[in-house]
Amino acid sequence: MSNLDLQSVDGQAELAKAGGKRPRLLLHTCCGPCACGVLSNIAPYFDITAFYYNPNILPYEEWQKRLDALKIVLDHFGGIDLVVPEQSEEEFLSRVRGLEALPEGGARCGLCFELRLGACAKYFEDHRQDFDFFATTLTVSPHKNAPLINEIGARLGAEHGVRYLSSDFKKHDGFLKSTRLSKQLGIYRQNYCGCLFPE
Ligand code: SF4
Repeated sequence: MSNLDLQSVDGQAELAKAGGKRPRLLLHTCCGPCACGVLSNIAPYFDITAFYYNPNILPYEEWQKRLDALKIVLDHFGGIDLVVPEQSEEEFLSRVRGLEALPEGGARCGLCFELRLGACAKYFEDHRQDFDFFATTLTVSPHKNAPLINEIGARLGAEHGVRYLSSDFKKHDGFLKSTRLSKQLGIYRQNYCGCLFPE
């Protein structure tokens, strides 16, 4: 099954038109501010369901604060559906054990992306009648390696038999829009990636 490339807003519009109706997108979503940037650019073109699976966000109070901020953003975009699957920090901690001392951007982050996108791909596989593609808001961040994220997403999509939408959501002022709209909405804006290991 082939994966599609989501590199431009124009491309998204063409994609939507080609299908005659808005494609259904399961969007792994890491937090409210990143959702602001991504949804500003793609909400008109897809029927979106946000998927909040981020057991890497520690401690629990922080995970909850980011979820609360995300709900405000989803309401702002007209009440986008939200899925919050069961998750526990141990799922993340056991995956990255032994890599705690690495800086952000190292091998631990690759495993972290894989864990989160893997859960999204699995959910898609189990509900394949409800979605056409999956993608992730993670590529909106200038601190994240978008090519690596897309490589992982495409591989997991192939493994689960579902279609991954490659993206670089920084484009079309995605990151700028994330900052601007999150300030406008007055939502919580975190100042660290997620885990409590050294950056
Ligand atoms: S720095 Fe961010 S991406 Fe990397 S392991 Fe921690 S939470 Fe995951």
